[in-house]
Amino acid sequence: MFTINENYLKLQGSYLFSTIAKKVAAYKEANPEADVIRLGIGDVTQPLAPVIIEALQKAVAEMGTAEGFRGYGPEQGYDFLRNAIAVNDYQARGCDIAADEIFVSDGAKCDVGNIQEIFGISNRVAVCDPVYPVYVDTNVMAGRTGMYNSAAGGFDGLIYMPCTEENGFAPSLPEEVPDLIYLCFPNNPTGAAIKKDALQEWVDYANRNGSVILYDAAYEAYISEEDVPHSIYECSGARTCAIEMHSFSKNAGFTGLRLGYTVIPKDLKAGGASLHDLWNRRHGTKYNGAPYIVQRAGEAVYSEEGKKKLKAQVAYYMENARIIREGLKEAGFTAYGGVNAPYIWLKTPDQLTSWEFFDRLLNEVQVVGTPGSGFGASGEGFFRLTAFGTHENTVEALKRIRRF
Ligand code: PLP
Repeated sequence: MFTINENYLKLQGSYLFSTIAKKVAAYKEANPEADVIRLGIGDVTQPLAPVIIEALQKAVAEMGTAEGFRGYGPEQGYDFLRNAIAVNDYQARGCDIAADEIFVSDGAKCDVGNIQEIFGISNRVAVCDPVYPVYVDTNVMAGRTGMYNSAAGGFDGLIYMPCTEENGFAPSLPEEVPDLIYLCFPNNPTGAAIKKDALQEWVDYANRNGSVILYDAAYEAYISEEDVPHSIYECSGARTCAIEMHSFSKNAGFTGLRLGYTVIPKDLKAGGASLHDLWNRRHGTKYNGAPYIVQRAGEAVYSEEGKKKLKAQVAYYMENARIIREGLKEAGFTAYGGVNAPYIWLKTPDQLTSWEFFDRLLNEVQVVGTPGSGFGASGEGFFRLTAFGTHENTVEALKRIRRF
């Protein structure tokens, strides 16, 4: 008789976004005429830029010719894309990262979820609280945690690093030293970013203690302030303690196309074993590669035209962020984020819980956001709005929230 991976049973049944979807569906069924504005789920809304469509079309046409046809591609990604990433995302910023340290994938979610596979089960894991749920869930599935502890609002065995109003949503260095540390800046859900000297402290801490930082840079393109690092490799010593994950989803609209990458420097070693080699082995065994045509579209992101168009797209969302942030403040809310990230983290008024605020916003003004408590215990009393709506919807949503 087969058995199952019982760690999966520890996961909480109801996933945040499915609960939201159910509540919105129930509301719409009861109020079919209602015009509900969704500023909840972190998906982009702007269409792919023409330069990306052209690259896709060209690659599709190539695939239909004898000379241009491609079968299985290189497991770590095509050189044209790895080189474009190394030059533009790293070397142009003074980071010492080579093309062969970059592993192209079908998105950051897979990489941030799968990267834990190359680490031992007994590693102690630290996550921010609140947190993008994938880091926690995949470590639960792997068996690196105990059971869900509803009194504490988290899994036993994990080190939760609270990100609160008091610490500016930037966690303090943990007293109990973790082996694996997940950091994400700019942050989903709080929209917080940290300065280079603060990130350097994490790098020094990890090197001092033999920890690894798993750095999620999915929102790097939204950084607007000078002293906020775009990559952890801007910090000295990061090559020996950090893995970095990137996505083409939020900077270039690839949420549906799927493309991302992970950087594992060759200097990153544990007990003589190279993490780069382990991930290479895993990639070769368990991964089919992002399609050639999508990698060509990724290359177009780094063309002059691509850079210009995508900067404009990010600016479009950040204008929404400004409208939300300032509109909320004018309406008397306390709101954070939205300067280096497409997320605004607002404090619920009148001490409403995150879900109470969700229900009232939906029922009274037909705006959907994401309850902060869905991202962890420290998210209680907060609420996430995203800048990924259209300009018109964002303006209308804020008009309605002012009435709230
Ligand atoms: N990392 C963070 C912090 C995210 O918020 C998301 C998506 O919302 C991802 C990774 C996933 O990115 P991708 O679309 O490349 O899988």
